[in-house]
Amino acid sequence: MLRSIRLSVVPLVILAFLPFSTSAQETPFTVGTASAAPGQKATGYIEVPAGVNAGTNIPVVVVNGAKPGPVLALVTGAHGTEYVSVIAVEKLIVDLDPANISGTVILIPLVNVASFEQKVPHVNPVDNKSMNRFYPGKADGTQTDRASFLITKQVVDRSDYLIDYHGGDLDESLRPYAYWGPTGKDSQDRISKGMVLAFGLDHIIIWRDRPSDVAASRYLDNTASLRGKPSIVVEAGYAGTVETDDVTLLVNGTLSTMRALKMLPGAPHYIENPVWLERIVDVISDGPGIWYPLVKRGTYVQEGMKLGYVTDYLGKVILEPRAPEAGVVLHLNAVPSLKKGDNIADLGIVASKPPL
Ligand SMILES: [Zn+2]
Repeated sequence: MLRSIRLSVVPLVILAFLPFSTSAQETPFTVGTASAAPGQKATGYIEVPAGVNAGTNIPVVVVNGAKPGPVLALVTGAHGTEYVSVIAVEKLIVDLDPANISGTVILIPLVNVASFEQKVPHVNPVDNKSMNRFYPGKADGTQTDRASFLITKQVVDRSDYLIDYHGGDLDESLRPYAYWGPTGKDSQDRISKGMVLAFGLDHIIIWRDRPSDVAASRYLDNTASLRGKPSIVVEAGYAGTVETDDVTLLVNGTLSTMRALKMLPGAPHYIENPVWLERIVDVISDGPGIWYPLVKRGTYVQEGMKLGYVTDYLGKVILEPRAPEAGVVLHLNAVPSLKKGDNIADLGIVASKPPL
């Protein structure tokens, strides 16, 4: 009797839901010219048309999972010579298998193509703007503004979660760390904190002092956060190097975060005891010269400790920058060249207690 009831009910359930789920599953997910049906991976470009200056094509990959789920954006290469962050996402493009994924992953491996090709750090050489400072962008500005505008519309607005990848640029010696930017919205902050712990980098900056105007969000992750999408920033790699350990940190961190978001099977690996940093202190050069460091990336320094010295071109010591507070050297100038206003080091100040 039980069996016969089941037999009569099940076909009804299938009839009721199958047509809907079949049509939903056949809907391709499209970003730019990349359009992937469920269970497929597609490549293409976000085409930034020419305006007051040249246009550009930003590469994009859509990995549309075989099973339904959320949309995660992985964006890197705003600074095109932060190579580890680019290579890690390139590896994810190859490794992510739509058959194993619940939901959709949008991968942007290289926002700033001109920076990469011309080996220009920090900015887009087409308009001399950083490509992580002009969000949400505008349709009629320079190339960086127009690219930021399209990434906001086509990537951020279409996503549920976002990870922005960076690292030490050509002239920055950086130890790996992440940013967690609480918004004050408890449910969103709990998710983003889960993401940053699942990512697993062992130093995490609590980034509270951020623009709150959705029309002037400035940074990519902040653009997503202000639109209600939990997001984090991760950094690894330094000074033009592509070390396997650094690439692995970003690749494995991404996979663990995807497990935390239930987009991949398996358990995430949460970092148990990260060092939480409550502030960053910049040490800036007040003149040109030759930089001789006495500390390394990751060194813990006491207040007043000498970080290095600067000479003029005739060998005379003209500056001995010291740590204004006790902290950890997150990154420092990796090359001898120094001009007035350059960043000598960034110190992370350890939080008095972990965030709740
Ligand atoms: Zn960067």
